[in-house]
This record gives sequence, structure tokens and C-alpha cells, in this order.
Amino acid sequence: MRIAVPKEHTPLDHRVAMTPQSIKRLASDDVQFVVESGAGLGASFTDDEYREAGAEIVQDPKALFEGADVVAKINSPVKREDGTDEVELIPSGALFLAQMRPHENADALKRLAERGVTSFSMELMPRTTLAQRMDCLSAFSTVAGYMAVIRGAEAGSKFFPMLTTAAGTIPPANVFIIGAGVAGLQAIATARRLGAVVEGFDIRPETKEQVESLGATFVEWEEASDDMQTEGGYAKEVSAEEEEREQQLLADHIAKSDIVVTTALVPGRPAPKLISEEMVKGMRPGSVIVDLAAETGGNCELTVKGEVVERHGVLILGQTDLAASLPVHGSLMYGRIVSVLLQHIMNDEGKIVIDLDEEITSHGYARRKCEVSAMTGTILISVYVFVLAMFVGFEVITKVPPTLHTPLMSGSNAISGISIVGALVIAGMGQGTMFDIIGMVAVIAATINVVGGFMVTDRMLQMFRRDTDTN
Ligand code: NAD
Repeated sequence: MRIAVPKEHTPLDHRVAMTPQSIKRLASDDVQFVVESGAGLGASFTDDEYREAGAEIVQDPKALFEGADVVAKINSPVKREDGTDEVELIPSGALFLAQMRPHENADALKRLAERGVTSFSMELMPRTTLAQRMDCLSAFSTVAGYMAVIRGAEAGSKFFPMLTTAAGTIPPANVFIIGAGVAGLQAIATARRLGAVVEGFDIRPETKEQVESLGATFVEWEEASDDMQTEGGYAKEVSAEEEEREQQLLADHIAKSDIVVTTALVPGRPAPKLISEEMVKGMRPGSVIVDLAAETGGNCELTVKGEVVERHGVLILGQTDLAASLPVHGSLMYGRIVSVLLQHIMNDEGKIVIDLDEEITSHGYARRKCEVSAMTGTILISVYVFVLAMFVGFEVITKVPPTLHTPLMSGSNAISGISIVGALVIAGMGQGTMFDIIGMVAVIAATINVVGGFMVTDRMLQMFRRDTDTN
């Protein structure tokens, strides 16, 4: 079996999917690794270290992907700077491992599926005991939580620990962590290690014990209950009224904090807005908010995704690169995760066997999910365009004076001609019965418009002829 490890071509991401250490665990006569030259350099792994681990190093991306049975990446496929499209490079029949994020990359997934590539979304691994060693979401949340505190400390203007110096005693910084999932708990642990006084909050009551075990104080909310979490342990979205009451609870704690790290997320939903502009105004100038939820809208009303902004004297960090910001340890963790997963799905002869009824592979296996999500995406876009077209059509027909109906009909006939071509293409693509039916309906509807248009025009011309005859 041949496993290819390309260089990540995503800006600001210096991680690599497999390290020399993870390759050494698996390399054998049956399992060969081929690594793109320089793939590990951003994470300080040299080509020589990969060679020593048993990998072959190649320069040419085409040679790298050619004949690969497995391609391991961190990020979904991209178009490279030289114009090559990774989707096209991954060989048909290969297994592609990466954080695919099916909902954001429906098109790439669909194209991979069409080419016979099996995509496995690493971030969809179940959060169970068995899958814990293959959970890259937790690994990268750990990096993000740690880095949030480090960036907050750097952007802030105070020491974290209490210091007794000849120049006087310096009190410790106050740090408040909102959201006590994997990232939040790591942020609490990091801030505590640096010596700050830390408070933690979450709407899931079970987190109280976890927060306190790390030496932080848990902010209690009497409304928090087990109903606020799903069976899988994730938070549910709170209502607008609950969100407002939560803000009132948090306001005082935020006002007295030097650094606030927000990590509150609800899977599949925009991040809850927990810090309003008024609350930012209530903070001391020089305070810092690190918003780890910036990617999905931010927990603070004033967060700007990907940027650091200053509002009312408070620095708000909305950078989204935190999970990718410790390339050495990020790569070591991910490489180990990939090698454990490969061991899990490899049989004794070193061949990949995917069992769709099995707990781990059934979650990450993205081909079916991609087909569903790509199809849903396409249908949604088509319905959106259809509704817009109906609205524009209605407005045009009702607003145009009757004298202009004939030229208008010529225009709509031309558009219907284009629609027929498009509908024939859709009907002939063989994407499934639903697409065939929609395509055929569109062909019939557009044809009625064209034929009807000709009939009405012909009738009008005849009326015109009669008038001429009479004259
Ligand atoms: P996440 O990233 O989805 O959310 C982060 C935190 O935000 C969560 O703790 C959530 O409760 C909190 N949150 C959401 N809305 C909030 C609000 N309005 N106010 C305050 N906080 C809010 O969570 P995660 O880090 O992915 O963890 C989710 C769950 O999965 C946790 O229960 C965690 O223990 C569990 N988990 C289990 C495993 C495993 O068993 N292998 C591995 C990792 C995580």
C-alpha cells in the first residue's frame, strides 16, 4: 500500500499530516510512504528525517499522488499556487483523509466522489472512548485553548501571577473563560499554570466539577440544566431570552476580568452572542477578549473574524488560526491520530478495509454524507434562483405596459430557449431520478413558453394582417 503525504498549501498552516515518528510506526514492506519534499519543514521535520523514517521524498506533486492508495492531509483539497487542483490529483479509488468539513466543501467532496475517491472526514470522528485516540477535533481544540491564553497574555498589559517585588506587590490577573469544552478547559489550565485567578462558566452543569478540578472558580447559573445539552454531550442553542439573562449574569464577571477567553459553540449553529457592546464598554481599557468562536460569528458582538480590533479601549482578538498555530505539536498529534486510524482500518496484509457498520468508519466516511449534502446544497441554490426568478418575472410582467408585451415575449422566448438547453443538460447528467424529473419538468415548462409564445405572436400577426386587409 502506498500512502502519500502532500505539503499543506493552506495559507498560515505550517502543519503536516504525518510526521517521521508516525511514519516509523507504520512503514513496512507492505506499507510505503511517499512525502512531498519540504512538507514537514514548517513543523521543523526535515526531508532527511522522513527518509530515515522510511519514506520516499518526491518533488513533483503529480509523482506524489500517482498510484497512492491513501492520501493524508490536514485540510481539504485546495488549488495550489501553481494552478494544480488537488481534487484532480488524488487518484481514483484512493482513500482521502483530511478535515473535509462536508458542509463547507460540498463541491470538492462531490467531485472526489464522482472520481471514485473515498473521502474520510477526520473531524467527524465520534466523541467516544474507543475513538478518543483518533479525535483530531479535541487535539486541535487543545492547541486553540492553550494559544488563546498565550495570545491574550501577550496582548494584555499585566503579569498573570502575583509577584512580590522590591517595587511592591503585584496582584494576579483575572481571567474569565466562557465555555468549558475541550478548548475552554485547556485555556483554564493554561491560565492557572501562568498564575492567574481564573473563573470558568458553561451552561452544561457537569462542567462545574471539571472547572473546579483545574483550580478555577465556577460561575453558577441557576437556569443551567442538563436539558441544555444533547445526549452526545454538546450544548444546545439557548433561546434569545435565556441568552439575555446569561449576558446579565456574565456582565459583572466580564467587567472585572483582564482577559476574557470565549469558546462557546453550538454544533451546526452560529456561536451564541454572550458579550454585547455595552459589556465591552464596562471593561477596563487595556483588557483583552480572545474570541475562539470568531469562525462561526463570534461570542462577542464586536468581534471581527480573522482580525484584532480595539473597541472602547478593549482589544478583541478574532483570529481564526489558533488551532493551527503550534505546528510541531499539532502535527505530532495529528500524525499519531492518522496512524492509529490507519492501523484501525488496515487488515493483516496492509490493505484498507472500510466497514460502514462499524462505529468509527461510519462517522467519518464522507462519500455518502457528501452526496447528501452536495445534493441538498444544489437543490437549495436552485430553489433560491427559482423563487428569485418568479419574483423578477412577476414584477416585469405586471409593470410592463401591454404595448411592450410582444418584445417582452421575444425576450422571454430567448430565455426559455436557454432554459431548455440547461434543463436538457440537467436531465441528461444521470445524477439520479430526482434530477431527471426536475430536468424533464423544466424542459416541458420552457417548451410550453416557447411554443405558446410563437402561437400568441402568430395570432397577433394575423390580427395585424386582417387590419391591413381591411385598410
Ligand atoms: P464545543 O466546542 O462544541 O463547545 C464548547 C463549549 O461551549 C461547550 O462546553 C458548550 O457547553 C459551551 N457552550 C455552548 N453554548 C454556550 C453558552 N450559551 N454559554 C456558555 N457556554 C456555552 O464543545 P467540545 O469542546 O467539542 O466538547 C463537547 C462535548 O464533547 C463535551 O461534553 C466534551 O466533554 C465531550 N468530548 C468527549 C470526548 C470523548 O469522549 N472522546 C472527546 C472530546 C469531547
